Amino acid sequence: MPVARFMGESNARYYAARDPLGAAGDFVTAPDISQMFGEMVGLWLVDLWVRAGRPADAIYAELGPGRGTLARDALRVMRGQGLEPQVHLVEGSPALRKVQGEALPGAAFHDDIASLPEDRPLLLVANEFLDALPVRQLVRTEAGWRERMVALAPEDTADVPGAAFVFTAGTQPMDAAVSERWRGAPVGTLIETCPGAAAAMAELARRLTTQGGAALLIDYGHLAPRAGSTLQAVRAHAKVDPLALPGEADLTAHVDFAMLAEIAQNAGVPWIAGTTQGAWLGAVGIEARAQALSARAPERAEEVAAAHRRLVHGDDMGDLFKVFALSGGGWPPGAGFAPQA
Ligand code: SAH
Repeated sequence: MPVARFMGESNARYYAARDPLGAAGDFVTAPDISQMFGEMVGLWLVDLWVRAGRPADAIYAELGPGRGTLARDALRVMRGQGLEPQVHLVEGSPALRKVQGEALPGAAFHDDIASLPEDRPLLLVANEFLDALPVRQLVRTEAGWRERMVALAPEDTADVPGAAFVFTAGTQPMDAAVSERWRGAPVGTLIETCPGAAAAMAELARRLTTQGGAALLIDYGHLAPRAGSTLQAVRAHAKVDPLALPGEADLTAHVDFAMLAEIAQNAGVPWIAGTTQGAWLGAVGIEARAQALSARAPERAEEVAAAHRRLVHGDDMGDLFKVFALSGGGWPPGAGFAPQA
């Protein structure tokens, strides 16, 4: 089967059955590291909302909200500034919907963004959501471009734990699915595309231009196009072979923000920006927030400093994670990004 199908089936089973987040789970995300992360998101949204003239009907929408921690922290800040939006959560996992429902009473649930309200401005957030969507991998072979597939290993290795599946090149020519940029790349080149992320961005761009509002997408990824496999699997805070434990490990791929920017641009979104998580959190004011938290609870100062460092430092999440934002429908640009060229 194509890598994309393997990733989709694996993650659907993985997320449906468990809450994978936190120290006791498989991986820790920024909202779990510190309340400051969600607070900066809330601050960014409320600042935009104020500059947009405080439209009373704007809603808060989040894709893949995990435990609801980011939303809780962001909404607390927003309410403090007079913004009390309806909350709409796009979540596929029954197990996580239950956790989110407890953290965010009154929230409405959606299977995908298609059913979000159409008639009012959106304040949309997604952290580590797009990286969970299946990627297609295309590989340049001697015979031309082929889809990268997952196959059963030859019988003699099938009883070796973790060796039941192998990567292989498909038999169908795929040259027509490869963009001009990569068509002539050398044998062995591998590129990824994420149809789910592309579709989500097209829909989001259309909605922002017609409904108004802004979106903030935060993820592992790159702001310029690049080649190579970024498929990885994580279980119990360690990287594992992506083919070894389908449905038992979190499969992710880096988000191609360059492709998403192109889609938004083609859809006529007037403001699009991207930067690193470290730069954005710094520009939005995490330093001042860290100081305030430490001053209020000196016994927690070290913990706050460690969390701050983990979120912004280049050796940690600061450079690897990117913050990508867009606004439309008469809404102003968001804060924390270098002015558009
Ligand atoms: N945003 C949270 C959780 C990230 S984990 C945080 O930062 O902690 C990925 C989240 O996306 C989970 O909530 C998972 O259930 C959800 N998810 C993954 N694929 C999805 C899909 N195709 N449709 C809807 N939700 C999905």
